[in-house]
Amino acid sequence: MTVHYIGKNNSILTKFISEIRNTAIQKDSLRFRRNIERIGEILGYELSKNLSFSSKEITTPLGVKKMNLYSNEIVLCSILRAGLPLHQGLLNYFDDAENAFISAYRHHPNNDANFEIVVEYFASPSIENKTLLLADPMLATGQSLVAVYESIKKHGTPKEIHIIAVMGTFDGIEFIKNHFPKNTHLWIAAVDDVLNDKGYIVPGLGDAGDLAFGTKL
Ligand code: URA
Repeated sequence: MTVHYIGKNNSILTKFISEIRNTAIQKDSLRFRRNIERIGEILGYELSKNLSFSSKEITTPLGVKKMNLYSNEIVLCSILRAGLPLHQGLLNYFDDAENAFISAYRHHPNNDANFEIVVEYFASPSIENKTLLLADPMLATGQSLVAVYESIKKHGTPKEIHIIAVMGTFDGIEFIKNHFPKNTHLWIAAVDDVLNDKGYIVPGLGDAGDLAFGTKL
């Protein structure tokens, strides 16, 4: 897997990441969702450089211009519910993508810190031989991404996979490296060092789903 740590270099991306982390700003859920969306747009732009391009003739009112346009058939798949603003950001740019949605949640069978990932809902077009963009905002342990990929695989084999994450940990990245095909790319905005005993990224930002959509039962 090739890891593209986009937030490592200075750019406007660090402003958006700092705002989703900042307790004085992140509680404005409209701004939180829009910042995740903006991060999705930036990561989408970066990954677009890695797509396959072919030359097309474009007719303007005054002539014809040859332009390189990407030829990939893209399926954009997001993990509910925290993935929705990231999905929207990517869709803003890849507006011709097909869309897929999958649910994954942490189930704590013994009401302690141990959890398993439950995947239930999956709505998707065919992914066979297509370019799969898999959006998961928080790559904490990497377990949800792997569980989701195991389910998706039953429905076909994509030509290539691009994982898009807002924030992750080095351990989570190492974990997914061992479970995805070698030609997979990871596009990630921020990487933190620590995961706490509840599986949250530290310092991270908190619960991305709750910040975007409110607390749940
Ligand atoms: N999911 C979140 O929303 N936050 C984390 O820190 C880890 C997983």
